[in-house]
Amino acid sequence: MKKTFDASTRALPHVQNLHAYVPGEQPQGEGWIKLNTNENPYPPSPKVGPAIAAQVEQLRKYPEPVSRELRAVIARRFDLSEQNVIIGNGSDNLLDLITRCFVDKAGAGHTVPSYSLYPVVVGMSNRGLIDVPFTREMKLNIPAIAQVNAAVFFLTSPNAPTGVPFTREEIASLLDQMDGLLVVDEAYVDFGGESAVSLLSDYQNLVVVRTFSKSYSLAGMRVGFAMADAAIIGMLDRVRDAYNLDRVAQAAALAAFEDEDYFAMQRQKVIDTRAMTRAALDALGWFTYPSASNFLFTEPMNASGKSGADVAQSLFESLKRAKVLVRYFPNHPLTCAFIRVSIGTDVEMKAFITAVESWLKHA
Ligand code: PMP
Repeated sequence: MKKTFDASTRALPHVQNLHAYVPGEQPQGEGWIKLNTNENPYPPSPKVGPAIAAQVEQLRKYPEPVSRELRAVIARRFDLSEQNVIIGNGSDNLLDLITRCFVDKAGAGHTVPSYSLYPVVVGMSNRGLIDVPFTREMKLNIPAIAQVNAAVFFLTSPNAPTGVPFTREEIASLLDQMDGLLVVDEAYVDFGGESAVSLLSDYQNLVVVRTFSKSYSLAGMRVGFAMADAAIIGMLDRVRDAYNLDRVAQAAALAAFEDEDYFAMQRQKVIDTRAMTRAALDALGWFTYPSASNFLFTEPMNASGKSGADVAQSLFESLKRAKVLVRYFPNHPLTCAFIRVSIGTDVEMKAFITAVESWLKHA
């Protein structure tokens, strides 16, 4: 007789109840204009290819375990010491390490809406998550965040999916009022937000998390980093996989980070294209949140001037039929009347606007 094992009852109860993160769709086949996962439309620095190729011969050897060179160049750029920096296998990896180290029974907190991975990493650690809701204005409610008294509070700035940034003053005021750790997730900050990094010297309860996925065009490589007090980084290093970053990823990130001219050039292109796209949406009379990120969160209006969840969904589906993929978040009242469109190339964004105009003729 076959020996049985019922994973559905034998897994730990919190794992049985866990909902895995649902990433944005990665469509198969050719011809898609992919504006749904905030990837960079441009390739990484031309220095990345040779840096990767140079690693092939070395692949029989383990990678440098702590990504020391990468920590050093990042520390130098931000006027920190190496002890203030840790590299993660994507910033998602770091959000998980922070949760595992610091979220105790007091639980974690986050704003709603924000990045939908936070509930997953907190759930993986079997801890509670407290919601601090936004209102339509998307202003930071500092007293409400301070009041939840979470062990760790995740704040995305600029926020996702809105693109709305928070100021350094607001973040400092929040840090003053909190006892727990504030994690400022700056995945999109390079596209125009105000960074909290300069607050690290005054606040030990701050962790700033960044990624190479967006502004360095390395989403496929999985590299992120966190900056914090040395004692916090020391704790994160205890729970990190021994070789959490492979050789290829370390070399690619290093090459991309050091090519500052290329970085500045393609970042500016994204910012310019964002302005062009925004102007086109404004011309339609649509409401769009101010964005300091590489995406726009906009409230579509049909030809009779109506907006709402049915209108947003109709546009989303019409764009998808035209092979233009954007993101639609139907499950929350503050997001269901909007679509989020990542900033692609000028050509891609013109195609997006054309597809919107063609929807408007029938909507
Ligand atoms: N934080 C936010 C707010 C994000 O939107 C994303 C990307 N989806 C991440 C972190 C994760 O980035 P990474 O690719 O570095 O894991």
